[in-house]
Amino acid sequence: MSYYKAVGRVRGECPHSHKSIKNAYKCVVRDSISCHSLGGGAYSDRVVKAFKDGEQFELNEEERNELFRLERKRAYGATLKEL
Ligand SMILES: [Zn+2]
Repeated sequence: MSYYKAVGRVRGECPHSHKSIKNAYKCVVRDSISCHSLGGGAYSDRVVKAFKDGEQFELNEEERNELFRLERKRAYGATLKEL
């Protein structure tokens, strides 16, 4: 079974097994927003990682491209719902 997670060295793993890159990226954005709301320069170090049978993998080219498209939409002001 393969899935995606939002993972950071400091923030740790999110508790979900996301079926899509998009949902994992939304999870990254949500964590980023909640860290930012703490103030004091707090930020999330979570990024999207792929998992298969419990083992962590880097994203492949297709997955990286999809993530890049989502990051670009977000950079141009898309809300979570609009992603
Ligand atoms: Zn998550």
